[in-house]
Amino acid sequence: MATNCQCCRLRMYHDRKPKSLMGRFWRWHINFCPGWKAYFTSLTPEQQAKLREEYQFTKYQKTEQE
Ligand code: SF4
Repeated sequence: MATNCQCCRLRMYHDRKPKSLMGRFWRWHINFCPGWKAYFTSLTPEQQAKLREEYQFTKYQKTEQE
């Protein structure tokens, strides 16, 4: 599945204003969004680790992807 998460406008908004309503909405939606899941799980482990730290994101650990 091709996704646009790398340059998602909502994500950029979150990164600028993480505590705003839209920023918090974006962060909430990645907990279950299939597009984000497809994007995130397509990344290298190093890229995933960076995003996990940046967004305090804990889903889709290696065992969940298999
Ligand atoms: S799935 Fe979520 S993060 Fe990805 S492009 Fe859509 S809204 Fe943005």
